[in-house]
Amino acid sequence: MLRRVFGYDRFRGEQAAIIDHVLDGGDALVLMPTGGGKSLCYQIPALCRPGVAIVVSPLIALMQDQVEQLRQLGVRAAALNSAVPFGEVTRIERQMRRSEIDLVYVAPERLVTEPFLALLAECSLALFAIDEAHCVSQWGHDFRPEYQQLGCLAERFPDVPRIALTATADLPTRDDILTGLRLDGARLFVAGFDRPNIRYRVQPKASPKRQILSFLKTHAGEAGIVYCASRAKVDETAVWLAEEGFSALPYHAGLDAGTRARNQDRFLKDEAVIMVATIAFGMGINKPDVRFVIHLDLPKSLEAYYQETGRAGRDGLPAETLLLYSLQDLVVQRSMIDQSDTPERQKKIERRKLEALLGFVETISCRRQALLSYFGDGCEPCGNCDTCLDPVEGFDGTQAAQKLLSCIYRTGQRFGSGHVFDVLMGKPTERVRQLRHDQLPTFGVGRDLPLEAWRSILRQLVVLDLIVVEPEFGSLSLGEDCRAVLRGERRVTLRRDALARGKGEGRGAARSSRSEQARASAQRTDGDPLFAALRRWRMERAKAQGVPPYVIFHDTTLLAIAEARPTSEQDLARLPGVGAAKLDRYGEDILALVDEVLS
Ligand code: ADP
Ligand code: ZN
Repeated sequence: MLRRVFGYDRFRGEQAAIIDHVLDGGDALVLMPTGGGKSLCYQIPALCRPGVAIVVSPLIALMQDQVEQLRQLGVRAAALNSAVPFGEVTRIERQMRRSEIDLVYVAPERLVTEPFLALLAECSLALFAIDEAHCVSQWGHDFRPEYQQLGCLAERFPDVPRIALTATADLPTRDDILTGLRLDGARLFVAGFDRPNIRYRVQPKASPKRQILSFLKTHAGEAGIVYCASRAKVDETAVWLAEEGFSALPYHAGLDAGTRARNQDRFLKDEAVIMVATIAFGMGINKPDVRFVIHLDLPKSLEAYYQETGRAGRDGLPAETLLLYSLQDLVVQRSMIDQSDTPERQKKIERRKLEALLGFVETISCRRQALLSYFGDGCEPCGNCDTCLDPVEGFDGTQAAQKLLSCIYRTGQRFGSGHVFDVLMGKPTERVRQLRHDQLPTFGVGRDLPLEAWRSILRQLVVLDLIVVEPEFGSLSLGEDCRAVLRGERRVTLRRDALARGKGEGRGAARSSRSEQARASAQRTDGDPLFAALRRWRMERAKAQGVPPYVIFHDTTLLAIAEARPTSEQDLARLPGVGAAKLDRYGEDILALVDEVLS
């Protein structure tokens, strides 16, 4: 089935074990990162077991995408949701009763209605798959109350295996899924969290526009997402990127539904659209060839960061992320938590989450290690993040901290960073002279370091709570724990940021890693006329059918074709992603194209 329908040679990770377990009628909870290959875990049992498989999916877009992909593979699949006309619904229901269809995707609210449960009772059922199962959890960001009613399936259909799948795998969510879906005896399958093909980069926001343009230079002609914290910033950034010559489109909840749908559709169907969006965008986007994700503002938590960056590189090909953050970001987030009217217990959790995120952005060791350890997982230094590629030194910042802290103290703890830096750097501005701050013992004690370095030190001392920034006017005051530092009883280790070192955002010497090789190979093939021709052909076929190009073939398949240069159907059939139906449908076209380009 794997070879014939899906065109793959080997199962990945735990896929085989999961499929065996479900084929034997067992229940399962599958925790696997995005791009790990969750769909096959229920699609293959759905095809092997008699009867129809019911797949619960939270979003119409997600269902349609899956159904589209399955139909291209020659699989009998359909979706039942509010967008499907009545006549079509009746037809699908008839096929279900006769077992003339293999997979039916439904929204949870439809599934739990009495009429639908009654229909199911008349069908022979292969299995229930509950996709995006974390939607059952109240604590998660995607909570869907209807998911909590899915527990009834355990009682109504005790003999039908149920498999729940998600990429969100912290322990509270896991427990919520097991209890909420009543998966008492289910076997747990947990894959690692690592996304080795994603390169993580984090930079202090110095001049964001320049930083973005420099990042985008290496991603010409690729699709990506730029996340912003506010709708206004989304609009502004999309306009700016368009002026810079990119196909950039905005997406946020303030746009009307038509515009949002249109922009999302273009993102899916064109090849090089940059979606500038708030976090309202992303759930249900199955586009496998998102090549980069940029955060222009600090995300809410490491969970959110992992999810949002995880939308890049589902196809396993190299992808890159960039997070820009500033002192302002963290001041805003802290004060948002402080001023919200959630109970103190919840605030404590949110503060801890923010601290974990700040620990990640300020780390001087491997980003991937920091990220994975947050999720209770681990790895060796990865060679595919900014701190591995361009190592950052830590330095004993105790003396520098003392200078900055006493300068804030001496000036009366009521000025913003601009004035404090002027005093520290010994700049006799008019204001400094008026206030006689040039007479202070701290005047000019910071001349040994450039301004960028002081900015970086200030930011880090705020992260450490040694300095407090008043959110409205930005005045600096001393944190409670600063005394120990001023007395020399506590030493502080700080990171030396690239900009503070005067190095710009250098790319550094890339260590050779597996994904580095993949990147090199992808780039080689990018300039290849055959690969380019295959992409053009795919776009034409996609346009003609009104589907996204990746539904026809993934980039991984086109890359394999460009490299293997098949001359016969047998050659072509051996390549990943070329199953029987696609061979039948597109084989001739492809072989003719290969022949034409290479002769
Ligand atoms: P998830 O739902 O876990 O995010 P998908 O099921 O969409 O992941 O799979 C991610 C990608 O990996 C898809 O392009 C899929 O075709 C591919 N894939 C899945 N299983 C295999 C396999 N055994 N061999 C090769 N490619 C696979
Ligand atoms: Zn690393």
